[in-house]
Amino acid sequence: DTVARLGGDEFAVLLENANEEVAEAWTRRFQETLGVPVMLDSHEVAASASIGIVTGGGDGRTGADLLSHADVAMYRAKATGRAGYQVFRPEMHEAIVRRVSLQAEMRQAIDEGQFVLHYQPIVDIRSRELTGFEALVRWNHPTRGMVPPLEFISIAEESGLIIPLGRWILEEAVAQLAVWDDLCFDGRPLTVSINVSGRQFASPAFVRSVAETLHRSHAEPERVILELTETMLLDDKDGMVGKLHLLRGLGVRLAIDDFGTGFSSLAYLRNFPVSSLKIDKSFVDDMLSGRRGAELARAVVEIGRVLELSTVAEGIETEDQATALEAIGCRFGQGYLYSKPLPAAAVEELLLRPTLALTS
Ligand code: C2E
Ligand code: CA
Ligand code: CA
Repeated sequence: DTVARLGGDEFAVLLENANEEVAEAWTRRFQETLGVPVMLDSHEVAASASIGIVTGGGDGRTGADLLSHADVAMYRAKATGRAGYQVFRPEMHEAIVRRVSLQAEMRQAIDEGQFVLHYQPIVDIRSRELTGFEALVRWNHPTRGMVPPLEFISIAEESGLIIPLGRWILEEAVAQLAVWDDLCFDGRPLTVSINVSGRQFASPAFVRSVAETLHRSHAEPERVILELTETMLLDDKDGMVGKLHLLRGLGVRLAIDDFGTGFSSLAYLRNFPVSSLKIDKSFVDDMLSGRRGAELARAVVEIGRVLELSTVAEGIETEDQATALEAIGCRFGQGYLYSKPLPAAAVEELLLRPTLALTS
């Protein structure tokens, strides 16, 4: 058998005449051995490794192919947690090829304006009156069609392209406010909610870019709501709490997205300058499926009430859900029951209607 160091902390091990089963058994033994702590300068140190396994050879694949497939499997193992292993499957390769090509195409896509924002209405659950919209990005790809954000936001985060993309989203969504004001028959001040990704929020220029956007657009800051997730607020690295206060100081409102799915410390939450909680769809889904679900949703709404935050339920699909949410005191909601996310032109049509109450 041969061990090679490929560079950095990457190694390759060649097991001759081993099948998949042998390779897996070897992998487990190797990881156990590596996990035994050793003393280094009176510190106890344990190492771990993520391992990708590829079997074959003699099937037309070259050594370079095998190495790159092992690499693909290793990255998959790494993504699923520390010290795991994965056996290479051809689908892994396709998924990576797709990610890599989306990543390569993304910069040009930003320059060429291939991204579009759709807007999902947020309503007052009781009256069904429209209060604002959440901006949701899509990639109108020339050959792949509409690519949903779950497929490219994480790629944009990895490559750092979330910074220019996020800036564009912010500019575009805030600019819509002025368009809506011109159309809205009764001058109601609608809000726009904008999703902010972790890396975007962490970037040093983020607060400044929000300030510049507001300044350029002359938008009323309190009508702009930035949606952050609990996980972004978990620890105070990069002066996160200070940043929240700076943003609040600009006048924009902050919402916690997917509330209840992370692990917010309630004591912490109390000190955040946020104004609303978005109750994750999973709670809404479970509401009518048994007593626990309803109780849990009620508890989340109650947290909002105690902290004097407004609550917005996400992913409402049925009348029964809306009725149940209203009964536990959740004021605002969004979901397919009211409307799917709409292209800007469809939003404009909606605003020309004589009443802003949505009917389903
Ligand atoms: P999110 O912020 O939780 O957005 C809500 C998602 O639920 C949206 O999916 C929306 O289309 C979908 N949805 C709304 N109502 C319903 C419903 O009644 N039923 C069901 N099944 N789904 C509903 P979408 O647009 O695919 O976005 C997925 C996620 O991608 C978002 O989750 C958000 O985390 C991220 N995202 C979207 N746009 C942006 C953006 O502009 N910037 C950043 N950083 N992330 C974004
Ligand atoms: Ca959101
Ligand atoms: Ca959400």
